[in-house]
Amino acid sequence: MSQIRLLSMDFDGTLVRDWAPPPYPKTLVRTLNQLRCNGVLIAVNTGRTIHLVEEGLEYTGFPIRPDFALTTEREVFRWNGSFWEDFGEWNSQCQQEHETLYSKAEGLLLEIEEFVGSKTAARLYYEENRFSGVVSRTNSEMDDICQFIETQRLGFPEFAYQRNAVYLRFCHVAYHKGTALAELQRLTDISSEQTFAVGDNFNDLPMLNLTFARFLACPSNAIEDVKATVRNQGGFVATQDSGLGVHEALRHYLPDLLA
Ligand SMILES: [Mg+2]
Repeated sequence: MSQIRLLSMDFDGTLVRDWAPPPYPKTLVRTLNQLRCNGVLIAVNTGRTIHLVEEGLEYTGFPIRPDFALTTEREVFRWNGSFWEDFGEWNSQCQQEHETLYSKAEGLLLEIEEFVGSKTAARLYYEENRFSGVVSRTNSEMDDICQFIETQRLGFPEFAYQRNAVYLRFCHVAYHKGTALAELQRLTDISSEQTFAVGDNFNDLPMLNLTFARFLACPSNAIEDVKATVRNQGGFVATQDSGLGVHEALRHYLPDLLA
């Protein structure tokens, strides 16, 4: 039997969907509860902030409260039974590194702001009063913005971004869903060999890597880059979308446990 002890799962487009009701299938909930009874830990690994994780759980009615929430593609929170708390020192270290990054990248950020404002109809996105990302109208507009940033950041290798369809957030190159997951593994003493990861978009690519998870999967609605990445590493590309696809992948990897 496979030794999966930790699930690292994207939320939007993976556990839940917004393009057709219901947002998640009951079979997935049963499966996750069954795994939880067997000691498997559940982490949502998302681009949402911790506040928006709560909102997402409430809005969709998703009935499983994760043990951990890895948020904004970089922070690590633990549910302590009453509220979300920082798990270890990671979040404060992450915050500090981003303060430094933002002050060093001031010029680059101005160039991006100028490009987005003058060449596109995309919207600048602020977190804590700081220009921290972009929301475009279309995927192709975001392709152009990414291309611009790729060129401009050549002299600044620490500066990176995470993209989820038309959403983009700037970050330090060392922080993404993969490294946040690695920190959670370190804190829980669970290895990548015992980890399952599933996601559907660009910002999931860093965790959909054998370095961070032995068991890789994506739902059928995943973008082509994600499907290729999962397939090329021997992972599982589901035939069904979002939650049904996750359910399909878990059954694929855990046929005995979920018989
Ligand atoms: Mg997603």
